[in-house]
Amino acid sequence: MKYTLFKTAIATFIVTLLSVLVTWLVAVIIGNPISVTALTLSAILPILTAFPSLYILFSKFQNLAEQHHLLEVAHAELQARAKIDHMTGLLNRESLFEAIKIARSRIETGALLMIDADHFKAINDNHGHAAGDRALKLIAFAIESVTRKGDLVGRIGGEEFCVFLPNASADTAKRVSERIRSEVETTPFHSIDGSQQPLTISIGATTAPKNETNSQIMSRADRGLYTAKQRGRNCVVLINESEPDTQLVTHIRHKSA
Ligand code: GH3
Ligand code: MG
Ligand code: MG
Repeated sequence: MKYTLFKTAIATFIVTLLSVLVTWLVAVIIGNPISVTALTLSAILPILTAFPSLYILFSKFQNLAEQHHLLEVAHAELQARAKIDHMTGLLNRESLFEAIKIARSRIETGALLMIDADHFKAINDNHGHAAGDRALKLIAFAIESVTRKGDLVGRIGGEEFCVFLPNASADTAKRVSERIRSEVETTPFHSIDGSQQPLTISIGATTAPKNETNSQIMSRADRGLYTAKQRGRNCVVLINESEPDTQLVTHIRHKSA
């Protein structure tokens, strides 16, 4: 409002000045002495006409600019939201895989962890879907709390999560996987009656060398996850890319089996 008034005053002043100048110039050219009345009118008329019309014009322009800014903010917000899994606040499947692709194009190596909640159908069946949703949020929070800022964490399906650790070695992948597994296992999860329920995950991990495609790496991590499920769940299986048949089982627990 203040800015619009200021702009209107400046523009009106310029128009008035021009009007007076032109009136004076015309009087000089035609050789008539300029009267005070003519000069006064040449100043007052633009003030009376230009000021209100310029004020309306600038106000409309200001409104348009504000609306444009609001639209830009809303658009940016929508774009950011489209990348997020609403339930957990983690990246969704598409944006995680896109982020992994970009990260891998810039670095030499890394590690991929495929994570799946154990016996999740039973959690829903025994304690209800709302408790299942709560468990998913707890798992997401546990994963996030033990990973670092540059790590990419996403929910890629119903009860499935995926983590990419940039520049991580096989040893780091094992260590972080085990930390995630343990954090979930020790996270208290209570059913609606207040009793504590077991909550565990299985993890398939692998390293991600530059010369391999995303799908090669994902299918190896998936194989690790499948093996972890077969070995009794609540454990981590790392499949080394240099020895594809070697499966390093870092932990086997049978609490959830
Ligand atoms: P496993 O240990 O072999 O992975 O067994 P599981 O029961 O976890 O696997 P299964 O694929 O049989 O079941 C997955 C369940 O996860 C079934 C589905 O209803 C549940 N689920 C998927 N998405 C959601 C969700 O958003 N909320 C809730 N509450 N449950 C979900
Ligand atoms: Mg699953
Ligand atoms: Mg599952």
